[in-house]
Amino acid sequence: MKCLLCKGMIKGMTNLPFQTGEEYIVVVKDVPALVCNQCGETFVEINILRTVEKIVKKAEMDGVTLGFVKYKEAA
Ligand SMILES: [Zn+2]
Repeated sequence: MKCLLCKGMIKGMTNLPFQTGEEYIVVVKDVPALVCNQCGETFVEINILRTVEKIVKKAEMDGVTLGFVKYKEAA
């Protein structure tokens, strides 16, 4: 896969913050992503995004209002 903007691309990690309520923020850390080494664009695959959504939902049901979750530990 290549960057849509400049054709560069490397594998990497990113942190994805989610705000689903006024006082509810969960940051999912170390999400596998493709990060462009030239322009910094980040792409996350759809199946990984779905897993991230599940992690966020679970944290929400656990009553977490502010927190960090590591992708690898929660997936
Ligand atoms: Zn790029």
